[in-house]
Amino acid sequence: MTDNIKYDRDYFNSSYKRWYAGLSLEAKTELNHAKHLVKMKRIHGDAYKPRIMLSTMTPDELIAHKREGYKKANARRKINNPDKTKANKSMYKARERIGNKEGCFNKADVLKMLAIQKNKCAFCYCDIKDIYHLDHIIPLSKNGTNCPSNIQLLCPKCNVTKSDKLLYLI
Ligand SMILES: [Zn+2]
Repeated sequence: MTDNIKYDRDYFNSSYKRWYAGLSLEAKTELNHAKHLVKMKRIHGDAYKPRIMLSTMTPDELIAHKREGYKKANARRKINNPDKTKANKSMYKARERIGNKEGCFNKADVLKMLAIQKNKCAFCYCDIKDIYHLDHIIPLSKNGTNCPSNIQLLCPKCNVTKSDKLLYLI
């Protein structure tokens, strides 16, 4: 039956082109997307899942869509890096504790402290000129403050063993 229909390709192409040129931009986008879907379904079969068309989204929808993606990526990252997640959590908790406390110290206070301690660890008196840890004499968890008078410098080894215990050695 199809053999009987005379198909003039040139005429079809030119009239199609004229029809296409008269379409609005939105209609063109929609048409091209529909064509793309048909093509992809033909190549990949029914398993093909079309991507969400970002160009048709309003700015708000786009932001929501991106936020959803970040959420998923974050969840994935948390599952893939359990150690990092744990470390981050404890860091945030520590920051929260520090942020809630009164008093503050700055770099100058630390340098002054370094001079007072003569570049030595406050506990074991080893040399801490190159690397030192800031330590709260009375830990923040035991109601210590961030005042310079509550700060001492320890070598990394001492600081790690001290944790949140109290030392009365200065
Ligand atoms: Zn030490």
